[in-house]
Amino acid sequence: MEDWIAWGQPQARPARYDVLFEPVKIGPLTARNRFYQVPHCNGMGYRDPTALAHMRGIKAEGGWAVICTEQVELHHTSEITPFIELRLWDDRDIPALARMADKIHEHGALAGIELAYNGMNGSNLYSREVPMGPGHLPVATFTYDPVQARQMNKQDIRNLRTWHLQAVKRAKTAGFDLIYVYAAHALGFLHHFLSRRYNHRIDEYGGSLENRVRLLREITEETKAAVGDTCAVPIRISVDELLGEGGLYKEEVEDMIGLLGDIPDLWDVTLAGWENDSQTSRFAEEGVQEPFIANIRKLTSKPVVGVGRYTSVDRMVSLVNKGILDMIGAARPSIADPFLPNKIAEGRFDDIRECIGCNICVSGDFTQSPIRCTQNPTMAEEWRKGWHPEKVRRHKTDKPVLIIGGGPAGLEAAQTLGKRGYEVTLAEAGTELGGRVLKEARLPGLSAWVRVADYRKMQLHQLPNVTPYFDSRLSADDVLGFGIPRVVIATGATWRADGVGHFHTLPVPIADGAQVLSPGMVMDGQRPIGRQVVVWDDDHYYMGGIMAELMADKGYQVTYVTPASEASTWTRNTLEQHAIQRRLLEKGIVIRTALALSDIAPDSVGMSCVYTGRRHELAADAVVLVTARLPNDALSVELEERQAEWADAGIESVTAIGDALAPATIAHATYAGRRYAEELDEAPPAEGELPFKREITGLVPLDTL
Ligand code: ADP
Ligand code: SF4
Repeated sequence: MEDWIAWGQPQARPARYDVLFEPVKIGPLTARNRFYQVPHCNGMGYRDPTALAHMRGIKAEGGWAVICTEQVELHHTSEITPFIELRLWDDRDIPALARMADKIHEHGALAGIELAYNGMNGSNLYSREVPMGPGHLPVATFTYDPVQARQMNKQDIRNLRTWHLQAVKRAKTAGFDLIYVYAAHALGFLHHFLSRRYNHRIDEYGGSLENRVRLLREITEETKAAVGDTCAVPIRISVDELLGEGGLYKEEVEDMIGLLGDIPDLWDVTLAGWENDSQTSRFAEEGVQEPFIANIRKLTSKPVVGVGRYTSVDRMVSLVNKGILDMIGAARPSIADPFLPNKIAEGRFDDIRECIGCNICVSGDFTQSPIRCTQNPTMAEEWRKGWHPEKVRRHKTDKPVLIIGGGPAGLEAAQTLGKRGYEVTLAEAGTELGGRVLKEARLPGLSAWVRVADYRKMQLHQLPNVTPYFDSRLSADDVLGFGIPRVVIATGATWRADGVGHFHTLPVPIADGAQVLSPGMVMDGQRPIGRQVVVWDDDHYYMGGIMAELMADKGYQVTYVTPASEASTWTRNTLEQHAIQRRLLEKGIVIRTALALSDIAPDSVGMSCVYTGRRHELAADAVVLVTARLPNDALSVELEERQAEWADAGIESVTAIGDALAPATIAHATYAGRRYAEELDEAPPAEGELPFKREITGLVPLDTL
């Protein structure tokens, strides 16, 4: 049997927070408190049902009262390949969903299912059925697919109502308590019917507000009639599309909600599209939805749930006390900290891992890979690796560990090893813990990222067996002199200033006298001399756009150049690309796409078109090269070379982790730190076994083919 150490001592909580722990009636059900994990995608879906079931189960253990699935495709005529969601196409899908419902119930939470018929939001690349919507329009996916949806006729509408009901019954059989009618985010047919942007019909399902709401009403009433005695039926609706009166807007949707009032058992209210609802902290503060949802409670006697990346407990309490929300909805705060409700209940505020609003979690869905989280490296690894966000395996040896570098990787390794009971020495060259996040959090829009360091520092304060040393830039001689048996090198990375990145794998020619800066230099306070600055972005994530913003804020004339076809192109995966490009344009930054930097002179930059090779020249006093990084691996390399001295010094292992091994995102670094700490002294996988569990689709017996 594993010997687990559960972390955290309950403390008294202020009485004003008690309101969050009142039970809430939802139709025939009672939620145990006001914490509600709204549906969220995770890149696991039908491919990884057991990993997904465990991920949801951990949240139930962490105290959420309601835990929902992501979108569940309710019929094969609407599916959103390549995205990997859940499916309820026929009875054979029930067991995977039942496993999730069971995991949620095991810890006393209610299980919700978001049934989805995406309609014109899916291209049906797998089923090859013709997509359907309120009218003849190109599909509205993220990728301009060359596919059109056909207009549904009355028979199609009747069929869809039947399919929805069939899925509702399957959902009930699978054990779900809340069965959603999903009309939000412009991701499903009901939203499309509500919105004049998509619904141009002239029959009883189009035109007036009453007509556009008709299908939502019919489907909700039918769902209620089928399961309403035992299950609750929420409606999820978007209150505004942020498109003015051209899209669904607040007053119009309030009228719709007024028409339906008490028909559903709960209102789950959001913004549309998804990029507006899940804005990053770079673009929106906590609670950006609040002004849009402030009136909903007055239109219904049923409970209202809404999101806003809420991690401030006082804010949650005020939303309830002001009568805006009955339940605090959360996707990202529940990902960053699956135990948020229990920690609040137990007054353990210093232990809360606050979401930083970076949307790395969203990138899992967009890249069809299991969800990952910058703050919570155990996310999606609950079953695959047997990790738990709040419990660790007791140390198996008494051998101490030296960690060199207090960035995200070193801090996560230190706090996890500390909780396991190891003696840890943490040597940091600087005067503060946090590494790259301390610097990046000072960049425009990224202040919330400092939470990566804050949470881990709070944990270290509670761990007497972890001793940090500051101003301690260690050399190989120092490390050999200490003689601590396990050495972890988490010394981070340095931005290159020679042009090597995705596009150029060799340095670009830089003439004498040219001013070239890297993001590292800029973060250390260096500024170009002159007025005109070119930012060359061959990193494609956030840093290039941020450097351009920072330079514009400092009064430089900025041209942002990328070989890609848009600014910060990878941020499509974090739902930010549009907002970044808009912000750069609004700040007067000139964006030049499909251009490759070729050489840098003191007063100009040579460029070539990535398609034709045609040369362009841009006047520039300085260039900021946002390209690749090099690991700070001098220490690991030297220690490796001096391996013969380890035994005499008492050193058993030297392991580089995080950016010091291979630079990547902060989420990669916290994961690397966690992994080192979780695996230390544990049995490695047997020969031929993978270091994680994997679920494989069962083969159909050949005689059924
Ligand atoms: P990661 O993201 O992999 O954690 P960071 O760059 O954020 O990497 O953090 C690296 C940390 O290591 C920085 O705080 C830096 O000051 C520290 N550091 C680098 N070299 C040494 C060294 N030789 N001794 C001690 N600390 C170091
Ligand atoms: Fe929050 Fe970032 Fe984690 Fe998503 S990945 S839950 S946005 S910290």
